[in-house]
Amino acid sequence: MFKLFYSILFVFLLFFCFDSNAQNIEKTKERIEILASQEFGGRGYVNFGGDLAAVYIAEQMEKAGLKQFGESYFQEFRYKINTFPGKISVKLNNKTLIPGTDFLIGPASPTVKNKYPIFLPDSLLLNDTIKFLAELVKNNYKEKAFVIDYAQTQNIDIKKFYINIMRYNSWFGCIVELIPEELMWSVSTKVQTYPVVKIKRESFDKKTQMIKLNSKSEYVKDFEARNVIGYVEGEKDEFIVFTAHYDHLGWMGKDVFIPGAQDNASGTALVLDLADYYSKNKPEYSIAFMLFFGEEAGLFGSTYYVMNPLFDLKKIKAVFNLDMVGTGDDGITVVNGAEEEYKDIWDLIDKINKENEFFTEIKARKESANSDHYPFHAKGVKAVFIYTMGGKTYYHNPKDKPETLTFTGYNQLFGLLTKFVEEYE
Ligand SMILES: [Zn+2]
Repeated sequence: MFKLFYSILFVFLLFFCFDSNAQNIEKTKERIEILASQEFGGRGYVNFGGDLAAVYIAEQMEKAGLKQFGESYFQEFRYKINTFPGKISVKLNNKTLIPGTDFLIGPASPTVKNKYPIFLPDSLLLNDTIKFLAELVKNNYKEKAFVIDYAQTQNIDIKKFYINIMRYNSWFGCIVELIPEELMWSVSTKVQTYPVVKIKRESFDKKTQMIKLNSKSEYVKDFEARNVIGYVEGEKDEFIVFTAHYDHLGWMGKDVFIPGAQDNASGTALVLDLADYYSKNKPEYSIAFMLFFGEEAGLFGSTYYVMNPLFDLKKIKAVFNLDMVGTGDDGITVVNGAEEEYKDIWDLIDKINKENEFFTEIKARKESANSDHYPFHAKGVKAVFIYTMGGKTYYHNPKDKPETLTFTGYNQLFGLLTKFVEEYE
């Protein structure tokens, strides 16, 4: 009897778990775990992280039964990128710093094995830029590491002055920035002639005399990247497009990888969930699913796509770019939602949200070239970028892990998007 009860319960649960008429948050979490795993190495430029992710996404598309525009789901393109495949170490006097926790190396840094005496100006000198320049003329700092402690200056113009010094540096052998907040990494398509090290302010002892750097970088002039694209054919030959970038920053040396769970395993997994949904629920519009590479390096995948579209861009009714969508505690923001020509899109989003009481707050923002919607928008294709707000997330930091995501707005966002597709004229 008991057994029978449990088997009925089991079938009942199965029915709900595999309900094909809705989002599948458990599957999404599983996909984020995979995409943000160490094996996928931050979906970047060394250890084949980006390639592994591309193959995984194509597999998921194939399982969902998505159609291909060409011979495969892949669209290849190339660009230049500075990568960090080797060992990276930083020593202050004789203290070895922990990579990723105490420091990150500047993404445009060259290979370097050297030691530099520290030049740490006091707050008086740091805040007097004229005196500072005079000091540069008077003495030779070519062999030294200039330590910029931004916390010593409140003035925004002075900060800008040092950011420019940093960018166009030809006076110092090395530049060290002391970072009071969480460390933030990025990727660079260029290599500088000098290294930059970002050190957590609390990890830097002011009595340090010498910094020792050992960092290997490799400038790849012809990096092969792939967009992964599939679609579901609807009744109409017009498209709603869901996009997300699946690339992230990858490995910094042998020890640090930035998982990019929020940025943007979350958006990638949401797009795949939408692909599963539409492959089982035939839509009126055709729906394309585009997972782009190279967003972090400069929106390369989406830019390549709009220059080399797989079908006429004029057939696109709307693009939803989903980038950093793993929270939602404080609602969502819609970039381009505040632009006049997006009024019909914004009004429908707002109406659906109110009718269904999905989010207490949705914000409309003006245009911004901050993610993959932008190349579409610039080409005159209507494209919005949605990200979730709230929760504690770690932007471009090794702590951007799956466990930081709350998924508070996941079902709501999924509902909002699918209802939009149903109702949009
Ligand atoms: Zn992103």
